[in-house]
Amino acid sequence: KRRTTRVKANKGQLFIICGPSGCGKGTVIKELLTREPDIFLSVSATTRQPREGEVDGVHYHFLKTEQFESLIGEEGFLEHACFCGNYYGTPRKPVDDHMENGHPVVLEIEVDGAEQVRKLRPDAVTIYILPPSLSELRARLVGRGTEAPEVVEKRLARAVEEIPFAYTCDYVVTNHVVEETADALRSIIRSQSFLNKHM
Ligand code: 5GP
Repeated sequence: KRRTTRVKANKGQLFIICGPSGCGKGTVIKELLTREPDIFLSVSATTRQPREGEVDGVHYHFLKTEQFESLIGEEGFLEHACFCGNYYGTPRKPVDDHMENGHPVVLEIEVDGAEQVRKLRPDAVTIYILPPSLSELRARLVGRGTEAPEVVEKRLARAVEEIPFAYTCDYVVTNHVVEETADALRSIIRSQSFLNKHM
């Protein structure tokens, strides 16, 4: 894709990472952050229930529906979307602050939100993470054991619907081995940040 816009000099680059639920993007991003501590990973808000081990303010800001809706009204989100019956959204201010301070900023969001951010910030770089196959995705979702069977089916259906979006992303990476995928993301983030700084 030919890029016609770029970020302001000295401003951090914005990256959007998408991929179907269960493709391993959370694990890959965690690995990426240990290698590139300079990256700011946006902490989203959601109305879904915390999973075991998830900490409020670390994995998500867990909000009640009314709290989430009042933040929408205050334009507190850069984007927000409904995914499988729950709200998810990116708090606007931390993203702007970290970009202003020159840090690469990563959003790990689903495709409706990604489309919104792409419109608002055409300089954002989009990366789509694919599972090795749909049967592998199903096995991972079932193996994770965090979702009821009907939720697994909903998430799988959503994965298939997202394929046309994946096709429009700047980069598509298949997650076979976590360390290798993290390396690929690292390389993309470094080179895009370099290009934006020096173009
Ligand atoms: P999960 O419930 O598995 O943590 O997340 C479900 C989906 O919501 C994932 O595809 C994840 O990328 C997406 N998601 C997480 N945070 C946000 C957000 O702030 N905005 C949007 N639009 N999607 C999000």
